[in-house]
Amino acid sequence: MSEKLNHKQNSSERMPVLFVGHGSPMNAIEKNPYTKMLENLAAKIQRPKAILVVSAHWMSEGTWVLGMDKPKTIHDFYGFPQELFDVQYPAPGSPQTAKLIESSITDPRINNDLEMWGLDHGTWSVLRHIYPKADVPVLQMSLYMARSPEYHFNIGQQLSKLRDQGVLILGSGNLVHNLRKIDWETYAKPYDWAVEFDAWLKIKIEARDFPALIKDYHNSEAGKLSIPTMDHFLPLHYILGAADSKDELRFEFEEIHNASISMRSFGFWPKEIL
Ligand code: ZN
Repeated sequence: MSEKLNHKQNSSERMPVLFVGHGSPMNAIEKNPYTKMLENLAAKIQRPKAILVVSAHWMSEGTWVLGMDKPKTIHDFYGFPQELFDVQYPAPGSPQTAKLIESSITDPRINNDLEMWGLDHGTWSVLRHIYPKADVPVLQMSLYMARSPEYHFNIGQQLSKLRDQGVLILGSGNLVHNLRKIDWETYAKPYDWAVEFDAWLKIKIEARDFPALIKDYHNSEAGKLSIPTMDHFLPLHYILGAADSKDELRFEFEEIHNASISMRSFGFWPKEIL
């Protein structure tokens, strides 16, 4: 066994934090350069004790975390082939990690969900490529939509310490996401405003200008068109909050699909695991 592999099994390693642009639900059952990127991620990360996904698709009143030991697979879309509705992602939950999250976050209060939600496609369309065996416990955290990006960033900061306890924090959304302008051809020519705003985001993320990412995203016409609703943008703020200054930023994927969806995916990685 290689030294590298041994290293990945060392349970004291701090976890990276990842933002994944998930795009069309069809990515769950397709193979393309994006899904290849996801497949390659698992080998770079020590096996997590649990994965906490902040998915764009769980919108709520209050902030909730999944507390079940067997979360159900939710098919939260319509108009797609039966094959997609047949997908199950039977990963176990982790009530223990849910308790740890609730006690780690002092403000706001985190609610424990035992019946409302499960694993939505923001989670399983991504994880079935990274961990196809569904053998790592998975939790989701909801988006309290009536709250500002600061609120979400602040929760991310409080979650950061869980990175030392084997929890992989993953934000699943899309940084440019305008469904009204979508072209169902994956590689359709991207809109100029989508390219412009995606480039602006890259510069701000590289500069770690988190205040701009929290406050200035609607200052341009391109920003307004790229973020018509906040659901796919807010998971970003958990990842920014959970990052720390010692992490190395690495962009894992940079493409715009369907003309109006940025698939930009990146991680903040502890230097010692790069
Ligand atoms: Zn989505």
